[in-house]
Amino acid sequence: MMIKNIKGTKDLLPEATHNIQDIEKHLNQFMYIHGYGEIRTPIFEATELFQRSVGENTDIVNKEMYTWEDQNGQSLTLRPEMTASVVRTYIQNQIWKTEPISKFYYIGPSFRRERPQKGRLRQFHQFGIEALGSMNPEQDAEVVSIAYNIYKMFGIQNLQIKINTLGSDNSRQNYEKDLKASLLKFKSEFNNTEFERLEKNPLRILDSKKENIQNIINQYAPNIMDYISIEDQKHFDEVTNILKSMDIPFTHDCKLVRGLDYYNRTVFEVISNELGAQDALCGGGRYDNLVKQLGGDSIPAIGFAAGMERLILAMKLTKNQNMETDIYIVNIKQELINNSMKLADDIRKELGVAVYLDSLRRSLKSQMRHANKMNAKFVIILDAETIKNNEVIIKDMNNNTQQSININNIISHFTSD
Ligand code: AMP
Repeated sequence: MMIKNIKGTKDLLPEATHNIQDIEKHLNQFMYIHGYGEIRTPIFEATELFQRSVGENTDIVNKEMYTWEDQNGQSLTLRPEMTASVVRTYIQNQIWKTEPISKFYYIGPSFRRERPQKGRLRQFHQFGIEALGSMNPEQDAEVVSIAYNIYKMFGIQNLQIKINTLGSDNSRQNYEKDLKASLLKFKSEFNNTEFERLEKNPLRILDSKKENIQNIINQYAPNIMDYISIEDQKHFDEVTNILKSMDIPFTHDCKLVRGLDYYNRTVFEVISNELGAQDALCGGGRYDNLVKQLGGDSIPAIGFAAGMERLILAMKLTKNQNMETDIYIVNIKQELINNSMKLADDIRKELGVAVYLDSLRRSLKSQMRHANKMNAKFVIILDAETIKNNEVIIKDMNNNTQQSININNIISHFTSD
């Protein structure tokens, strides 16, 4: 039986990786000019890391993680997100002791056993940033504006930023208690999963897409803004004021809560209405207690994570690029293969351009056809007769001219062009 890839995973062939490499190149440059350095952490971690950060009562930890027991009995998990790993290494290396502020970005795969659909995979790719060390609103505004400006850079239209505040620990807890109490009055309207959610992680109910639940929430759920402290309100106002002065458009959505346990104060999402049901391009927020909770000092932090596949969907990229080359060496006589291989290598080393050499021993005609398909700018033809005088033919594919040239002068021919 043919072995296939696992449901919810994707193979990326060169025509797709081509686009991704291009996106990554832009992201790397974008992060560099914003002062964020790349961080790479392992794709698997101790299961406990995610239980203690993402939260025991979240869908991710409850039912979506790929977890297994290692031969030595340790429970390991493929990372379902990257913030936990960044915080783990930040604590492990005690980075705050030498750097008062750290700004990281990452790009890489994450794994969640969700039901696959458009824009939702089991192995997906995320990029994101984490800024650890500052509790000030300008840090929140920087992170939100970076998320927005990335999508602008990639030309995504119809962007919407939703932003909210969860307040600090106490306000979130009080709100959760009252939210639960107000919604439990309508428990007959909830199915089993929703009821369990209400019991264990009531904030998640606010995300419900069901109309009857949304109606109840709109009418009866308390508003988180009535629970936050004066300092939380001031922080939130300052964040939104900076965003306004930066011309970053946003809407304040009092029902935006985000699923993970570690968030406090600012939470936000960037949404595109071009994406269908899975419309969140990225999401993030503040997590001022996580570093301490996982064993570090009390270090405030904020970040976001974005889905690469959803960015690509929003960019509406097509995958039809052929592999291209600058120079195609056509080798007609097999006994000349040594010369061709050496020539290809010399040109690559000296000029740093792409050189393609046929290894199928195809006819002149079919190699020329392939050179055309690859959009070769030049073709170099080695044939048995001319090579006796050290001559090769160089064809300029753009203006369809050709000339004979000494094989030893090829490099200087191209550099003097
Ligand atoms: P989250 O960590 O759930 O806030 O996710 C952050 C971003 O990662 C989302 O806004 C999506 O763009 C992306 N994402 C999350 N889960 C998936 C998934 N299963 N498949 C594809 N992208 C995802």
